[in-house]
Amino acid sequence: MNNLAIKITKAMVASDYGLSAIGTRGVYFDEALRTVVFERDKYTCQKCGLKHCVLNAHHKKTYKKHPELRFDVPNGETLCFDCHQQKHRRRI
Ligand SMILES: [Zn+2]
Repeated sequence: MNNLAIKITKAMVASDYGLSAIGTRGVYFDEALRTVVFERDKYTCQKCGLKHCVLNAHHKKTYKKHPELRFDVPNGETLCFDCHQQKHRRRI
């Protein structure tokens, strides 16, 4: 198993259990890129419009299918914690 496969496996486990970036550095947007995505979206959830809450940077195209887009800012969108959870629940 190469490093990328290991990282993706960790990401899948993390999203199954609804964890955020705990122990999965390199899979989710890194801190700097998350900030770029949040700034662009003005720290507002792009689904429900909530501000000043727990925000996640969501990958529009999954890193599972598009590992090359993991750190691609245009592929990221700001979602509140609840909307992010819903996106991932829907996919399962
Ligand atoms: Zn939301």
